[in-house]
Amino acid sequence: MTAPLVDVDALVKSDQSRLIHPHLAGADTERIVMVEGSGCQLRDAHGREYLDATGGLMLGHVGHGRRELVDVAAGQMSKLEYFSSFHEFTNEPSIKLASRLIDIAPSPMERVYFTSGGAEAVDAALRMARLYHHRRGEPERTWVLARNFGYHGVTYGGGAATGMPMFHNGFGPMLPHVRHLTPPMPFHPELYGGEDPTEFCLRELRQTIEEIGADQIAVMIGEPILGAGGVVIPPHDYWPRVRELLAAHGILLILDEVITGLGRIGHWFAAEPMGITPDFIVTAKGLTSGYFPMGALLVAGHVADVVTRDEGFIGGYTYSGHATGCAVALENLDIIERENLLAAAVEIGDHLGDQLRRLEELPIVGQVRQIGLMIGIELAQDPATGEPLSAGWVAPLVRERHGIIIRNNPNTILLSPPLVLSRSEADQVAAAVTDVLTEYA
Ligand code: PLP
Repeated sequence: MTAPLVDVDALVKSDQSRLIHPHLAGADTERIVMVEGSGCQLRDAHGREYLDATGGLMLGHVGHGRRELVDVAAGQMSKLEYFSSFHEFTNEPSIKLASRLIDIAPSPMERVYFTSGGAEAVDAALRMARLYHHRRGEPERTWVLARNFGYHGVTYGGGAATGMPMFHNGFGPMLPHVRHLTPPMPFHPELYGGEDPTEFCLRELRQTIEEIGADQIAVMIGEPILGAGGVVIPPHDYWPRVRELLAAHGILLILDEVITGLGRIGHWFAAEPMGITPDFIVTAKGLTSGYFPMGALLVAGHVADVVTRDEGFIGGYTYSGHATGCAVALENLDIIERENLLAAAVEIGDHLGDQLRRLEELPIVGQVRQIGLMIGIELAQDPATGEPLSAGWVAPLVRERHGIIIRNNPNTILLSPPLVLSRSEADQVAAAVTDVLTEYA
């Protein structure tokens, strides 16, 4: 270990007394001050090295320390760092990025609305969905259907759609007119009372539409694959059937691809292999690989026509269409394409997944789910019943012993490394997780 790069104790003390961290209990708990990154490698202020198997928070597609992105950001900033995108003002990078996203969209999308992140884009989608119905003479269509275990950020719109009670408790009242439905989680048959999960979910959706009234419902939102909810991949016919049912009742569909979008599962968007044709696609994270805080909402033509007519779409974010962010996003997409990172996500993901699936033999592992470089390892007290086992102890041990950073939700270990993960790095991740789980099994 090399000498500390900065006065770490002073920094940590200041952090402990000055910062509010998301999801951190206790004021004087440990802090890890990250100072450098390259590829999947990170270094903290003590000089300790880590392997980033989380992509920060399920992003970081092109890896840390990419000079190309620094150069593009510096070049754009030295020309025009930012100007408003409100009203008639615009800039070249945002125009080019919108076209690029429309080109790679899985189903026809006609317009793009830029935001500073995922939850803002979810909020914009919810507002556009309600406005669409309002302008078409159905203002009473206000209800939003969402799903338990879904995560859509923590703004009051996205947060209300998020289907995890911890994000609602103590923060209420949330946005009204939001109903959470059951997603298909085939590993948990107990949720469906013996019925096939997809049939159960479709029946519940039909009943909910009947109960609330189709003419009161604006939109449904869901992640194609539950991300923070545990990397839960639905049966192949679930989304197309949901889509069909919604369309029959004039209900719009927002597909939240903040995690799945832009390469993580080996496609630009999950909607493509999953055969979903949504009215909106929400994306963020992989859009800039974390080099700039940005999100984008892709909007289908029939909706875009309505929300842009009359006085246009009222409401924007200061940083919508940020010139530097859009320039960085364009270069980031170029890197993903140039370096074949969609294919790499599948190849390295399968390589890692093959090793991790062996963990299903352990008595504490319920199910290993992998698609591209999006992996969930669900722990269980008893894999036969799926009774949950807390996963919170695994990440600290894997980090302490092996210098590898992973995450977890209450009972699932989550792996989402940058798409530039090498085979040998994948082997290190598999070996570290295997070591810790095997010892404690
Ligand atoms: N939607 C999904 C599926 C996410 O995973 C996230 C963040 O993890 C969000 C929305 C919110 O994005 P942000 O944190 O950029 O607001």
